[in-house]
Parts: sequence; structure tokens; C-alpha cells
Amino acid sequence: MKCIICRGDIEPHVNAEGVIYWTEGHNAEPIGKGRCCNRCNEDIVIPARMTELQLQVLNKMEDKKNG
Ligand SMILES: [Zn+2]
Repeated sequence: MKCIICRGDIEPHVNAEGVIYWTEGHNAEPIGKGRCCNRCNEDIVIPARMTELQLQVLNKMEDKKNG
């Protein structure tokens, strides 16, 4: 499986015994539709989600101001 952001391989997650339990990657939205790797999730997707949430909050505050 490839990451849609960096086009690299998505590393499977292994548990303490070294058994692969997860190969699906992370949801890459709102950056794009598809799956992304750990690094892109942490460096790009999560900050983007935070920014989106902040924008939504700001928009709501604006709505209130405008009545
Ligand atoms: Zn990636």
C-alpha cells in the first residue's frame, strides 16, 4: 500500500511480538482521499486537521458576530 502524500510505502504496524496487525495506513483527509503513512499523518494530516478545526471555530465566532 502506498501513501498518497509522499508516495512512499505505508509501513505495517507490528505488535510487541513482531506480528503485523495493521497495514491500512491512516486516513489522509482533509489532505486527500486515500491512505497515508505514519510520518505524513503526524507531520501533515494531523496539523491540517487542527487548522481546519480552528477555522471552523473561527467561522462560528464570525457567524455569531454577524448575527
Ligand atoms: Zn507519506
